[in-house]
Amino acid sequence: MENCLFCKIAAGQIPSNKLFEDDTLLAFYDIDPQAPVHFLVIPKQHIDSAASLTEDHAELLGHVFAVIAKLAAELQLENGYRVVTNVGEDGGQSVKHLHFHVLAKRSLAWPPG
Ligand code: AMP
Ligand code: ZN
Repeated sequence: MENCLFCKIAAGQIPSNKLFEDDTLLAFYDIDPQAPVHFLVIPKQHIDSAASLTEDHAELLGHVFAVIAKLAAELQLENGYRVVTNVGEDGGQSVKHLHFHVLAKRSLAWPPG
């Protein structure tokens, strides 16, 4: 999608600090980390947010969580981590391309602010 920051990152038009890439997904470190480990996992395909997901995305979402589990093991996040996807204004979504935050290496408060 034109003028979408994460589509441009997925296409390599804007640089990112990549952790993992395949045909369907990209994982890269967040530019403004909120924890000692903070990376994002995005589908290369443009999807506005989790509000646009359907049953047709089941395989993609399974792959997202399998990649997160693999990266968490590689990064030795055995003490735990949080996976978050923000949706819309009240959810605090600033980039309108589906992304999963993975935060780790500090104790994370609950409920979130
Ligand atoms: P959200 O607020 O949930 O939409 O999350 C968007 C995230 O993208 C924020 O945590 C930003 O710090 C992050 N972000 C914005 N621009 C970039 C960039 N160029 N590279 C990496 N992360 C980015
Ligand atoms: Zn996009």
